[in-house]
Amino acid sequence: MKKLGVLTSGGDAPGMNAAIRAVVRKAIYHNIEVFGIHNGFQGLIDGHIEQMDIGSVGDIIQRGGTILHSARCEAFVTDEGQSRGIEQMEKRGIEGLIVIGGDGSFRGAQALSEKGYPCIGIPGTIDNDIAGTDFTIGFDTALNTVIEAIDKIRDTASSHERTFIIEVMGRNAGDLALWAGLADGAESILIPEKQDAMEDIIDRLKRGQERGKKHSIIILAEGVGSAFDYADDIKRTADLETRVTVLGHIQRGGSPTASDRVLASRLGAEAVDLLQAGQAGKVAGIQNNQLVHHDISDILSKKHTIDMNMFQLSKELSI
Ligand code: ATP
Repeated sequence: MKKLGVLTSGGDAPGMNAAIRAVVRKAIYHNIEVFGIHNGFQGLIDGHIEQMDIGSVGDIIQRGGTILHSARCEAFVTDEGQSRGIEQMEKRGIEGLIVIGGDGSFRGAQALSEKGYPCIGIPGTIDNDIAGTDFTIGFDTALNTVIEAIDKIRDTASSHERTFIIEVMGRNAGDLALWAGLADGAESILIPEKQDAMEDIIDRLKRGQERGKKHSIIILAEGVGSAFDYADDIKRTADLETRVTVLGHIQRGGSPTASDRVLASRLGAEAVDLLQAGQAGKVAGIQNNQLVHHDISDILSKKHTIDMNMFQLSKELSI
């Protein structure tokens, strides 16, 4: 392989820059030319492509977001859009593409691979909702951002003796809520994979109050529903006042943690090795701290599973 392309797609995630850097540097290390595609699949269709060198990725390993920018692109779901994308790469002699993003982005990569154009996916999303990898790039940073925010809210919860419901991101996955809840000693964790009955949530709040507990934290994954609806339900059912905080987009930004930088560096380099070895239609991941790769079709047909032992533990530790 002489030339490869790299793009970021879907929601941005801290560590995407570290992954871009690894792709560019590893490729150049192997004497492969690298082309950065701006604005995800939209930039691919539009030919917004430029060659990168060692210096293009200097001073970015510590930065959140993505220097290549990201976009959602409806046109790429069509046969015409995908063919146009392949055309743009072929006319520049680019022989393979690395796609950093979430499952939607992998569908785009799969479509190209099915058309005979080699693609490798790298999981980059704060949601940790991709099968075939224990962690996605950005999850650890988002988790630490959430924990820092909850620690601050806890100060107010404790000073004013209040119960807070904190809504965190994660789309349809509960990992961010579960890990944050365990790391922050939340009274209840509400995740899409295991919904607790309202009685259980209220029981926990009441038991806490009975033993003199002055404040409580409930963490709710956005995939479960709105924190405001839960606050209304708790008020209606048990006449308990709660305060709601929706953390929102602060969870997506910030400088990546060491863990995300290392993961991004390993996965970025692995993706280059896979393309160079003639692999196509794969997603690089990490399982039990070992680099792995799986067919994109397998990744897309399976659901990322949550560690139910962790969920059980969170209950046992917040009796
Ligand atoms: P996140 O998890 O952060 O949302 P994502 O990669 O899942 O990231 P999406 O918006 O679902 O984000 O997908 C990103 C882009 O991938 C879409 O805008 C579209 O260009 C492309 N894409 C999604 N689904 C398909 C598909 N079925 N075929 C081709 N391309 C697709």
